Amino acid sequence: MEHLSLMEVLTAPPKVDRDLSRHGIFTRVIDGVKIHAVTCGWIKYRNAHFHSILGPYLVILDPTWMDWIPVFSWVIEHPEGIIVVDTGQSTYLSTDTLNKGGMNGWLNKQLARMDIDLNTDIKAQLGRLNICPDDVRWVVLTHLHVDHAGGLRYFPKSEVLVSHQEYVRPYAFVDGTYPSWFKPHLIGHYDDIGGVFEQGHVLTRAGDVVVVPTPGHSMHHQSVIFRNTELDFFFAGDASFNFSHVQSGFVPGINLDRQLAKQTLDQIKGYCIERPTAYLPSHDQAAVNRFFR
Ligand SMILES: [Zn+2]
Ligand SMILES: [Zn+2]
Repeated sequence: MEHLSLMEVLTAPPKVDRDLSRHGIFTRVIDGVKIHAVTCGWIKYRNAHFHSILGPYLVILDPTWMDWIPVFSWVIEHPEGIIVVDTGQSTYLSTDTLNKGGMNGWLNKQLARMDIDLNTDIKAQLGRLNICPDDVRWVVLTHLHVDHAGGLRYFPKSEVLVSHQEYVRPYAFVDGTYPSWFKPHLIGHYDDIGGVFEQGHVLTRAGDVVVVPTPGHSMHHQSVIFRNTELDFFFAGDASFNFSHVQSGFVPGINLDRQLAKQTLDQIKGYCIERPTAYLPSHDQAAVNRFFR
């Protein structure tokens, strides 16, 4: 488990459960609700993926690679039902499916190295939290890339929410990602929620969990916001890879639409200024520090 040392170097607050943190699971309780940052395997990209304006087919020419970084899923033990945001990587997708996945399978293999096994996938991690996948009420997918939809097969009893347009027109989608039973709740209409994003899908009756459009990385990428009295949690998927891109406005070329991605970054920045927010992208190891702030 050499990669766990990356998490160990983070400045963890004293209340972190050391046993769970060794497995890449971090828990915070806010307003009586438990939220978990759950590492579902590790991934590494070529440096140009995060740091250049090169598109995917030029990125793969970069021979240099970043360090391993986590693939986070997020679990909210909400009073109205357990919510999982993204399902991490899959042991299937890192092997057979990518090999059989045609051009996009090939491209995914060139763009990323994945490290995942049955001991670190979403089912195993939920088990460490004493949560059975069948007890998860909602699974919200930020988008349909293999490192976010990889654990879907464990959630046949949950209501899975996906952007309608993302489902119709997924970007770099690998065939075989979905389980055969997959019939998601497609979000095709957003409500007027005001504020920076103006529109969103309100998930809970309490109105505290909202799915907002954050396009750019893929055309219909979404993020999830859990609003609280003191601090909001912004589960950003791949809207950006880290917080410094939000601060600087830099948009890597790997994004499908860089103009939309820039607009999204500006909106996220505006949101973080408007409300105290923990900004939590899927592949940002520093997210754990902001999670506890
Ligand atoms: Zn992605
Ligand atoms: Zn990703």
